[in-house]
Amino acid sequence: MTAHWQYLIALGSNVGHPYHGPPPAVVRAALVALETCHLPVILAGPIIASAPLGPSRRRYANGAAVIETPLLPEALLDRLQQIENAFGRNRRGQRWRARTLDLDIVLWSGGAHRTTRLAIPHRAYRDRAFVLGPSAQIAANWRDPETSLCVKHHHARLTRRARLPKAPPPRSNVPGP
Ligand code: ATP
Ligand code: MG
Ligand code: MG
Repeated sequence: MTAHWQYLIALGSNVGHPYHGPPPAVVRAALVALETCHLPVILAGPIIASAPLGPSRRRYANGAAVIETPLLPEALLDRLQQIENAFGRNRRGQRWRARTLDLDIVLWSGGAHRTTRLAIPHRAYRDRAFVLGPSAQIAANWRDPETSLCVKHHHARLTRRARLPKAPPPRSNVPGP
């Protein structure tokens, strides 16, 4: 029997598509495209709006999906990049630029994978509310092989950190006792 892996995928869009429509519709269409490209979506999280990241000023629509496939990580990345390209993504230029569709691999049921081209767990997901929010709704108990914490723990840590009041600036000239 073919081994079936599960992957947690983060979806993002901050540019509308002439056919699919504005970013939330692009993310919805991408979920359909995953299925069409033989990457069955087992679970899909809510599609949320989030603030721009990096130099681009456009708002994002973000989502998350658990997919099932016999593909190993590098082959899956090839297929995800084909889907990004089919949505008109231009890969030239800087990271975080305006893009129709971004598909990142966040976690893999097979554990960790690290090459120059691909890092699983995704290097930045633990600090991204727009990934952890939708992911916590569909993959709360997935364990991060590098931290041994679950998605729900990383999500709770991040939201707690965001709610903490800012530390006061260090006081100078504090009189001694
Ligand atoms: P970020 O990775 O910070 O979210 P990005 O998604 O905008 O930035 P891309 O331009 O989509 O970055 O991808 C740049 C490269 O990142 C890809 O060509 C790919 O080789 C590499 N990469 C490394 N780890 C991953 C991963 N877990 N998922 C997807 N791409 C990855
Ligand atoms: Mg990304
Ligand atoms: Mg990417």
